[in-house]
Amino acid sequence: MSDSPKLDFIREIIADDLATGKHSTTITRFPPEPNGYLHIGHAKSICLNFGIAQENAASGAKCHLRFDDTNPEKEETEYVESIKADVKWLGFDWGNDLYFASNYFQFFYDSAVHLIKAGKAYVDHQSLEEMRANRGNLTTPGTPSAFRDRSVEENIDLFARMKAGEFKEGECVLRAKIDLASPNMTLRDPVIYRIMYAHHHNTGDAWCIYPLYDFAHPLEDALEHITHSLCTLEFENNRPLYDWFIENCPVPSRPRQIEFARLNLNYTVMSKRKLLQLVQENHVSGWDDPRLPTISGLRRRGYPAAAIVHFCKRVGITKFKGTTDFSLLEFDVRDFLNHSAPRRMAVLDPVKVVLANWSAEPLTSVEVPNHPQQPEMGNRNVPISNEVWIEREDFMEFPEKKFYRLGPDRYVRLKGGHIIRCAGFEKDASGNISLIRAEILPGTVGVDSPEGVECRAAIHWVDVASGADAEVRIYDRLFNVEDPDAAEGGFLSVINPDSLKMVAAKVEPSLANEVKEFSCQFERVGYFVADSKDHQQGTRPVFNRTVGLRDTWAKLSASNARGR
Ligand code: ATP
Ligand code: MG
Repeated sequence: MSDSPKLDFIREIIADDLATGKHSTTITRFPPEPNGYLHIGHAKSICLNFGIAQENAASGAKCHLRFDDTNPEKEETEYVESIKADVKWLGFDWGNDLYFASNYFQFFYDSAVHLIKAGKAYVDHQSLEEMRANRGNLTTPGTPSAFRDRSVEENIDLFARMKAGEFKEGECVLRAKIDLASPNMTLRDPVIYRIMYAHHHNTGDAWCIYPLYDFAHPLEDALEHITHSLCTLEFENNRPLYDWFIENCPVPSRPRQIEFARLNLNYTVMSKRKLLQLVQENHVSGWDDPRLPTISGLRRRGYPAAAIVHFCKRVGITKFKGTTDFSLLEFDVRDFLNHSAPRRMAVLDPVKVVLANWSAEPLTSVEVPNHPQQPEMGNRNVPISNEVWIEREDFMEFPEKKFYRLGPDRYVRLKGGHIIRCAGFEKDASGNISLIRAEILPGTVGVDSPEGVECRAAIHWVDVASGADAEVRIYDRLFNVEDPDAAEGGFLSVINPDSLKMVAAKVEPSLANEVKEFSCQFERVGYFVADSKDHQQGTRPVFNRTVGLRDTWAKLSASNARGR
């Protein structure tokens, strides 16, 4: 059973069905079409379907992974592999229940013949335009096709000839004969088979007629004995059609379709068509670009799978159409990383500090905790010597009131090391600080600041001698507006030109030797992950910013800047 106290409406229905004995267990499915990579919206559906199976495992519940590969035109095996990898990465397992709808082509065909024999399907030679024109509208019933009342024998013959390749694409289709006057337009004799001379990744050239989604999907569910077929709200209208096919085809079970609201997130797009366009037109580096809401992109960005699953749980399952704030997802990511990510030091905008009196108490390293609240994560020794890099913003020539870091004649602590005092600085030709001169206060490592020394902050640093150069990629939202889909000039017109900034950073030596996908917090900067593709252990450190910290300093200096 679910560990959440209150069940969502789908889990309530399921609990009921189990309690009343309508079902002894549940079989759900996640049915992606392999025509793109999965995104965070799919994660919601994965968490729901596989989650229900996990929660009811005691009764033998299962969740199938089914590739809905009935459309030969856009599908590729690369997508099949990526989808499997993403489902696994999220922590779910389909066991032996991996299916391909294309393996059911014969059953779809037989079901169509069954409908024809029952007088419930006919071959129509109207063009798509004619069919559309004759469909009527909400107030006018559809006009019957001249071919609607063909004999069963004639339909059987024509459908067999469609299958045999005797007609050209678009020359005819098979339609279900339902109700041309139905207020539900999906019931006005929907097309269920069309001719397509396309090579299929699984069945090759065995078929030249392919079933339409509305026809195939309920049959797939029924064949697999799916008990609850969970889909998004767009399919609410199609439910009577789904039920009609279940009712009228020779199926072995009766699945129930239930609809829930899809996940929408602001500042991003989720349609596979748009994601594909971003990839194909090189607006991003690929399907796993860390700015995309794809599962592989979020993974490369450093989002923990557990944070995504937790987010999906928190968003919940309802029938309410809404848009979820991207920052909710970021909140979960921070929350997970705050607990699990070890701390390291990196300086993203370095300025050099020379410690003039280093010889007064020269150390070769200092001991720094790997996590401030989790002593079990241990300490590490970070090399240090007479020159260190610090963050440019940790120094102010004319410090503001609440600025407790470095400035002329001021004190600050180097995290884990000495308190230092700024003795002066130099500027370059354009007036930027190019060097800071400072001195250490001997005897201040690991002890409170001495009498008379006001030191209220500790800043991160990287040793000049031993630190490494790293490429750090600062990712921001891919779009400038909350709803890119609604942008007047199209979603491409609102791409954020600053969504990727490359930074030449200095990092503590250990970071250069970390493995790909190593995730940590750069102290006081944010959460970062070693890039899964470009990071080269020992030779080329490349880190992606997963998410920033909620930095009160940034807020403070912004408000100070406004007040000046
Ligand atoms: P298309 O762009 O082709 O409409 P799709 O996103 O519907 O793509 P599918 O591969 O058909 O892609 O989706 C697989 C499953 O994921 C479906 O059951 C679908 O309802 C679900 N799904 C897709 N997008 C979302 C979303 N944003 N929120 C929740 N579930 C989703
Ligand atoms: Mg779909």
